Amino acid sequence: MKVILPDGAELELPDGATGLDAARAIGPKLAEQAVLVRSNGSVQDLRLPLRDGQPIQFLTTRDTGDADALYVLRHSSAHLLAEAVRRLYPGVKIAIGPPIEHGFYYDFEFPEPISEADLERIEEEVGRELAEGRTWSREEISRNEARARFEAEGETYKVELVDTAEGDISLYTQGDFTDLCRGPHLQDSSPIKAFKLTGLAGAYWRGDERNTQLTRIYGTAFFRQGDLDDHLAQLEEARKRDHRRLGVQLDLFHFSDVSPGSPFWHPKGMAIWNVLEDLRRREDLARGYVEVRTPQIYDSELWVTSGHWEKYREHMFIFESENKQFGLKPMNCPGHCVVYGDGQYSHRDLPLRMAEAGVLHRDELSGALHGLLRVRMFSQDDAHIFCTPEQIEDEVIGCLEFGYAIYDKLGLQIEVELSTRPENKLGTDGEWDAAEAALAQALTKKGIAYVVNEGDGAFYGPKIDLHMLDSLGRSWQLGTVQLDFQMPQRFGLRYAGADNAEHTPVMIHRALIGSFERFIGILIEHFAGAFPFWLAPVQVRILPVGLGHHEASHALAARLSTYRVEVDDSDETVGKRIRNAEIDKIPFTIVYGDKESEDALAVREHGGGQSTESLAELLEQFATLEA
Ligand SMILES: [Zn+2]
Ligand SMILES: [Zn+2]
Repeated sequence: MKVILPDGAELELPDGATGLDAARAIGPKLAEQAVLVRSNGSVQDLRLPLRDGQPIQFLTTRDTGDADALYVLRHSSAHLLAEAVRRLYPGVKIAIGPPIEHGFYYDFEFPEPISEADLERIEEEVGRELAEGRTWSREEISRNEARARFEAEGETYKVELVDTAEGDISLYTQGDFTDLCRGPHLQDSSPIKAFKLTGLAGAYWRGDERNTQLTRIYGTAFFRQGDLDDHLAQLEEARKRDHRRLGVQLDLFHFSDVSPGSPFWHPKGMAIWNVLEDLRRREDLARGYVEVRTPQIYDSELWVTSGHWEKYREHMFIFESENKQFGLKPMNCPGHCVVYGDGQYSHRDLPLRMAEAGVLHRDELSGALHGLLRVRMFSQDDAHIFCTPEQIEDEVIGCLEFGYAIYDKLGLQIEVELSTRPENKLGTDGEWDAAEAALAQALTKKGIAYVVNEGDGAFYGPKIDLHMLDSLGRSWQLGTVQLDFQMPQRFGLRYAGADNAEHTPVMIHRALIGSFERFIGILIEHFAGAFPFWLAPVQVRILPVGLGHHEASHALAARLSTYRVEVDDSDETVGKRIRNAEIDKIPFTIVYGDKESEDALAVREHGGGQSTESLAELLEQFATLEA
């Protein structure tokens, strides 16, 4: 038989040859370094036979940054972890141990609880395994044999996995440890040059809270020690930037058990919020949007009409009043349809661009809540555009221009995805062809590069998603522009066309920064709390050197009162107050002493230089930064 190599060359092999046989046929070095076979985008264990005509590519220990190669390395590392834990903690039961992004985990049921302090000991045991060296062997056995084997070992979770597994049962063994596993795995442990356990967490068996809570041990592994060092440095940087930590340090917001998942915004956090809200409102009005305000609470009948009762009910807060069921709104769209439905429109009245940054509630599981990034109460820079099919392209272009105006102001790097019709789509192929073409055409006209996500659109229409890359290279979804042919129909919305006949408008759901909560959380981490001048909660802090300078400092603050300015006249030394301003990440600090006057101010910029400026020069600089 033949297999096809990446350069198109064919390789003759005996029937039944494995990936490893193919590597050996090419050369001993490749056979030694190979970690897996990749074929048409999927990965295959080196020990498995190849098919006649199969295109194959070898990944080796030199593919140190390849996600698939790292996946195999980390999966094998998870098995080493399980081997070590079984040796160290007799009576422990093992559950599952998959590789994940940036690492792996393994879930255990320990006879006695363990703590973070135990991780070092486990890591040392894995270190011993690595020093001794391990090789993996693979075998396929019958379901009955597998069940008998794991029952004898008391591994009840594995028995359950055997019973629910689909297809053939395969086992991988290294040292004295055998695991039920599909693979693929490394040939041996020598490519694992860096191994680190990173944390502990509770996790329910099969993710179901009615089941036993297991202990999840997280770890990571790399082909090179330097890669692990870089990864840990990145984690440390992310930890320092964690918005939950900075949010408290900078006094922006807090969370309380009295309302889980709903932030309490403090004055400084509210200052940031209001700058964004002012920007949102100013831009909405300048771009021909009208503002509306719709209720929080709706009769369940409305949610039945909108389709949320069927598709979204478990994410909604629902309650009863006077024997009727009501739901708190998780989205503004149905309310906007009610506003539209109250009017009479001709094609000349469209597009109608309706904006509302209303408060929304979604019933997220408490375990899924995460600071400002996953909340129960939030507000979006939401708008719905009602338009004719012919207007879609121009309206989408308008949304993109609007989005980029905001992203450019913040210097954000944006990546764009176009998601097309899913399998469960509503509407005809003809409608989808036109809608997808309109979105693609709008992106092309704006010269915006994008990736197509085939089949990833909503069931009611295709969409454009706007993601930002933050300063640590992480991607966050911000904006979305979604076409919707369904909701206007469900609400029976109409407009009189040029032909005098009744038509159903198209609805465009549009949010550009997404929720204010999430956006502020992302920006805190992106800027590490050091906001640009125009967004900073306190823009200027004035430090009077002595008691005699208090009056002049407050007078200066009054001159700067169009900005967010404060005077730190506490009893601390000037040096300490300068350090505090640095820790609080205040963009400008002015030290006011005997030598200072409005003609000569001692100005310090956050993390930057010092200069002497007149008040007029400073105001000019602020005006430029504010624009
Ligand atoms: Zn496995
Ligand atoms: Zn909407």
